[in-house]
Amino acid sequence: MPLRLRLAILNGAVLAGAILLLSLVAYAQVSRSLAESLDESLRAQGENLATLYEARASLPSPVDQRVIPQPGVFSSPTFLVQVLNPDGNVAERSSGLGNRRLPVNPESVRQAGEGHVAYETVVLDGQPVRLYTTALFTDEEFIGYLQVARSLQAAEQALAFLRTTLLQVGAGSLAIALVVAWFLAGASLDPITRITRAADEIAVSVRFDRRLARVETHDEVARLAETFNRMMDRLESAFIAQRRFVADASHELRTPLTIIRGNIEMLRRSGSIQNTEMQEALDDVIAEAERMTRLVGGLLALARADAGQEIARASVRLDELVENIHREVQPSAGKVGLELGERQAIEVQGDLDALKQLLLILVDNGIKYTPPGGRVTVAVRERAGFAEISVQDTGPGIAPEDLPNIFERFYRATAARGQEGTGLGLAIALWIARAHGGDIVVESSPGTGSCFTIRLPLKGESPRQSVRDQPLAVTP
Ligand code: ADP
Repeated sequence: MPLRLRLAILNGAVLAGAILLLSLVAYAQVSRSLAESLDESLRAQGENLATLYEARASLPSPVDQRVIPQPGVFSSPTFLVQVLNPDGNVAERSSGLGNRRLPVNPESVRQAGEGHVAYETVVLDGQPVRLYTTALFTDEEFIGYLQVARSLQAAEQALAFLRTTLLQVGAGSLAIALVVAWFLAGASLDPITRITRAADEIAVSVRFDRRLARVETHDEVARLAETFNRMMDRLESAFIAQRRFVADASHELRTPLTIIRGNIEMLRRSGSIQNTEMQEALDDVIAEAERMTRLVGGLLALARADAGQEIARASVRLDELVENIHREVQPSAGKVGLELGERQAIEVQGDLDALKQLLLILVDNGIKYTPPGGRVTVAVRERAGFAEISVQDTGPGIAPEDLPNIFERFYRATAARGQEGTGLGLAIALWIARAHGGDIVVESSPGTGSCFTIRLPLKGESPRQSVRDQPLAVTP
């Protein structure tokens, strides 16, 4: 799950918890205060009525009924009043009750008889009602019980309204908070996203000299960018040192190798060594010295490529280049037929020597890997706005598992190990093609031969990327 979504959800969850807690506390407070004020109103009403009934009981009959006629006359219509005899039977009821009776709970009556008031919630006609019970006394004489009740409907309606309001407001604020949290998380992660993008660009372009722009915020993000740049400084110096070492070593090895080869050639030609075994040993040394010369030459070429060597730009006729290579290589092709296929007159901008080296690598490979009697056909044509040189052979083809790796430095397919080679040719070829703003595409399957196609921008077309931006020796 992306960090931005995780942060937004986390913020939303914290906020939802806070809203829920706040709502629960508010709801509990309101519901408790409603219950308290209801009980308080019952108590006040009950005390007033009890005083009246106790006063009436001390008057002689029938004066009592005239002075204080019936229960509930003095009470507000929201209260229901019922008077019980000392034995618990209903003696009088307020008119609001009609022919209903307030339920008499023996436990509440007992509690009232002991001098405590009792509060309880009962059901009257299916409606919840809060009921207050107290005992009535005149001059210490017990004369009965007074019950005062009030419907809980209004309080419950108020609580239901509060519940709906809290739910709606809570859900609304949660939705708003989630949206705000999403944008805030995006804004705070934005510098990190930019750093990641810039680091990615450096990785893709293999430009170790590039750095992230300074972040002026002096916070964790700025420190991250600084640390990344410091790491790039160290990587760049290590990379430069390694590149210089390979270039220097290859350069230094060329002279001794030339001397070794020259001296051994001289020794062989002098005729001083007659022994066959010794001559074979000399041949081996010459072959190995030649192989090493090729290897050192390849390493030097790649070291120069890594150093960002610029390619010279001049007009090059590809059809003429192909014909020249055909003429030069054909005599040494042995039993493999080197043929010219379709040739369109095509011009590109580039370095003639480098392009020649590129084509030679592909043609040499074709001849090297194709068994005697096979064919290597070179063609040049324009296709889809590109100049294309194809080198098609009837050789053994390349296994699918090797295909993605053949452009790696020193990679050699197992099938090719018997052949001489360094594993650097295709890496150099790909660099030359890319340095010209082009590419190399391979189509091959075992048994049917291989076709390497060089694609180059036509003269007048701008290369797709600058030479310095080309990734080197990567699998196409
Ligand atoms: P090498 O010096 O081994 O030829 P390259 O870089 O030129 O090195 O080629 C890399 C590998 O690609 C070779 O070892 C071989 O396995 C494979 N390869 C290249 N060209 C061909 C081809 N025309 N036919 C079959 N395999 C090829």
